[in-house]
Amino acid sequence: MSESKLSGRVILITGAGDGIGRVAARHYAEAGASVLLLGRTTEKLASVYDEILAKGLAKPGIIPMDLATAEPKEMQELADVLYEKYGRLDGLLHNAAILGSRVPFESYDMNTWMKVMQVNFNAACILTRTLLPLCHLAASSSIIFTSSGVGTNPRAYWGAYAVSKHALEGFARLLADELENTSKIRVNILNPGGTRTRMRAEAFPTEDPSTLKTAEELMPLYLYLMSDDSIQVHNQMFDPSSLEKLDA
Ligand code: NDP
Repeated sequence: MSESKLSGRVILITGAGDGIGRVAARHYAEAGASVLLLGRTTEKLASVYDEILAKGLAKPGIIPMDLATAEPKEMQELADVLYEKYGRLDGLLHNAAILGSRVPFESYDMNTWMKVMQVNFNAACILTRTLLPLCHLAASSSIIFTSSGVGTNPRAYWGAYAVSKHALEGFARLLADELENTSKIRVNILNPGGTRTRMRAEAFPTEDPSTLKTAEELMPLYLYLMSDDSIQVHNQMFDPSSLEKLDA
């Protein structure tokens, strides 16, 4: 496949310790990238790191960071370290998220609301703000925001999760518009759709996971958006149906 599609690229993935983010990190590394694994559980990041090293791929970086509590200053310090070490950022996959509660809005706990908005939306904006100068230093850079069906069309009982993803889509559109024609940074939105992960099981506890696609099956799309194959693609929304178009 794509052995060298991301050769020499430096790509940061949030929520790289589990679920779709973990699989994407591994696939990006297999395609030649140096991956920077950001997440809140260091043991999980270390296990992805070990898996990538065991395959003899480019040495990843581990970035332990809790997006629920990280201040802009901590993110700026990260940007400074990355500048020293790599001098640029070729790709940024905003993937980390939490589900929060699925209850009527009138019953929603407001501390949970603020935490979901912080992790899923505010942290992604602040991280983007601090890492943009590094993206500008790359020959071309791809920023991917992960949304959800309820992000595009918020529905009853999805609470802060739906609202945070809706806001994230809005932010991605704003950023894409600002960067169009003024930079070599492309910005796109990806809705992975129902995928066999812990979050999906939390949202739909009675669903049979074997009926769902795996994160592995999504990887052609994740690779497409991160590689030069999508270099002209900007301000677009992708979902699993885009996989068929890629095959065509
Ligand atoms: P998982 O719950 O499996 O993984 C989420 C990842 O985000 C984990 O690595 C988790 O870390 C990390 N994370 C959560 N909170 C924080 C935090 N405070 N700081 C840093 N990292 C954090 O989710 P999925 O893989 O299913 O989801 C990936 C993305 O895809 C999300 O944006 C989700 O909204 C979206 N999505 C998923 C769908 C699905 O069906 N799976 C459908 C539509 C959208 P840790 O493991 O340490 O908790």
